[in-house]
Amino acid sequence: MTIAERVAAVRERIAAAAARAGRDPGEITLVAVSKTVPVAAMREAYAAGIRHFGENRAQEARDKFPAFGDDVHWHFVGRLQTNKVKYIARHCHLLHSLDRLALAQEVDRRASRCGRVLPCLVEVNVAGEATKAGLPPEKVIPFLHQVAGWPGLRVVGLMTVAPRADNPEEVRPVFRRLRELAEEAARQCRGLPGIELRHLSMGMTDDFEVAVEEGATLVRIGRAIFGERG
Ligand SMILES: *Cc1c(COP(=O)(O)O)cnc(C)c1O
Repeated sequence: MTIAERVAAVRERIAAAAARAGRDPGEITLVAVSKTVPVAAMREAYAAGIRHFGENRAQEARDKFPAFGDDVHWHFVGRLQTNKVKYIARHCHLLHSLDRLALAQEVDRRASRCGRVLPCLVEVNVAGEATKAGLPPEKVIPFLHQVAGWPGLRVVGLMTVAPRADNPEEVRPVFRRLRELAEEAARQCRGLPGIELRHLSMGMTDDFEVAVEEGATLVRIGRAIFGERG
């Protein structure tokens, strides 16, 4: 299959999952995760209508930004070291992996220096996996209270990476838990400046349909669009 055919197939599967849940597919953004993918393949995805790319290495992202125009939105989805925030602060449309105060401080500093407010998602380690990034669920609401009102960032939702599973139904409770946590956090943070929990970034190649059924507004899809990574 060509990249265009893969993009079309993914869009159809998102639409079908949205329909099963009674959702409008227009409220779900497909982020094509292009880490390790050469710009030529990204251009094919662009020609197929992709306008959101996700990267997980700051220098790779920085090197790819100039290859596309202002109509492309760049998502940063990986673990981000504080000393690399400088590479993405100006061009990143949404940081999916805010997971600690030191990172929030650096994002605030660097984004402010660029004269911007960087939209962020708080990454949550819902399943409590030792190897995974993200705040434990019970730390999310206190964290939101701490960063509320910082001038260089705005928290617009939550993100999670589900555990690997042979059957995506196994991770449905993880996605449901993230949605419930976002609802609870929205209640407890009502009125806090710079906290607007509208987005749920969840679902990858192996589990995105279940994530859409559970309320994802952003799905992060690499292999189903670009093929297996080398
Ligand atoms: C690589 C990656 C993805 C995409 O994964 P696929 O399984 O290729 O769809 C999504 N989210 C994050 C955080 C990633 O690192």
